[in-house]
Amino acid sequence: MLAARYSNDGKAVLDLSPVQREALASHLRGLAAGEFPTESRPCPVCDKVHGETLAEKDRYGIPFAVVICPDCGLIRTNPRMTQEAYASFYNSDYRALYSGQERPDDAYFRTIRPRAEIIRDFVGRNGLKIGPGSVVIEVGCGAGGILKIFQETGAHVVGCDLGDEFLAYGRTVGKMDLRRGFLRDLELVGQADLIIYSHVIEHVLDVHEELRTIRRFLKPGGGVYIEVPSVKNLWKPYQGDFLRILQNAHTYHFSLATLTNLLARGGFRLVAGDEATHSLFKIGEGGSIVNDYPAVMRHLKRAELTRHLFPFRKKELKKRLRRLLGRA
Ligand SMILES: [Zn+2]
Repeated sequence: MLAARYSNDGKAVLDLSPVQREALASHLRGLAAGEFPTESRPCPVCDKVHGETLAEKDRYGIPFAVVICPDCGLIRTNPRMTQEAYASFYNSDYRALYSGQERPDDAYFRTIRPRAEIIRDFVGRNGLKIGPGSVVIEVGCGAGGILKIFQETGAHVVGCDLGDEFLAYGRTVGKMDLRRGFLRDLELVGQADLIIYSHVIEHVLDVHEELRTIRRFLKPGGGVYIEVPSVKNLWKPYQGDFLRILQNAHTYHFSLATLTNLLARGGFRLVAGDEATHSLFKIGEGGSIVNDYPAVMRHLKRAELTRHLFPFRKKELKKRLRRLLGRA
């Protein structure tokens, strides 16, 4: 059983900045005061209530229950905060804790550009041509750094998010149509060729409701690009450590297969995807549910065996090398 191994001692597994430490302390005080009530929810792929426990704390050391569904392999946070509790968290300590930054700075558009280029190239490579006359919507757009690259193709771009500081920055500096709210609030925008969710779907509580809204907003032939952290891609982005991918704002922790299962239940078929996870879906028959439990567990067990090697490889090795070369 992985549970015992993935319970840390209440300390963050990351090195936190002073801003993050302050936000973490504030959130833990709120939790202790009962400000963030939780609820239990079944697996959204196969409706099973049961789940095997994988972890009891997230990467910041915040108490947080993570289970895997034995029938489909989807990992979910359960119990999880209620909608109201999440809203309260997003409006308080979320940005400072997650990014170590409460508002974007001058480097924002430059920093995010490589990520935006990957998305533009991925959808283009998979048959979705975006250019003048296209409509691109991004949900959870922040300050619009990803939308910017599609605006440069001549497409009409619209973003929505809940972070006021980031939206204001994107409107004034990026000159984009960014609005406070959710996809469902964008009725007047019309239908889109492309809807983007980059590191957003894993935060959504009612995914089926969101998928129904996406279906209403997509033009015939349009696609939804979804990027999520993958539990099968731990080595590079998370230093081989499952604990590092776990964040209390994430209600789901996907692999490409479990994401595809969820989208299939919502009436979408996978056009292309990898385990990074970049993926493009279109409306259509998604095929039957594939149980990814054995593969996910194999990845997690392997990660548990090898994660202790990473600090040695990355930090210790460099330190020893510098010492050897007389630079430290
Ligand atoms: Zn399931």
